[in-house]
Amino acid sequence: MTFSCKNHDFDTDNCKKLNGRCIMGRRGCILEGKVTVSEDNQKLIDELEKQWGARKKRKKIK
Ligand code: SF4
Repeated sequence: MTFSCKNHDFDTDNCKKLNGRCIMGRRGCILEGKVTVSEDNQKLIDELEKQWGARKKRKKIK
């Protein structure tokens, strides 16, 4: 199966909706909660969530 997303910028591999890297199923993605993602993809989502968590903590400290 192939999938094409209207938000995907093929030149940069970025998401035009989220202004960041296209990681299918990430928070805010049109596919969030609608698809089962691969283990590798889930790792990317987890890394992203971790980065957001760290950023949030830093903001609270300031
Ligand atoms: S992150 Fe989701 S909404 Fe954004 S380009 Fe990728 S598949 Fe599309």
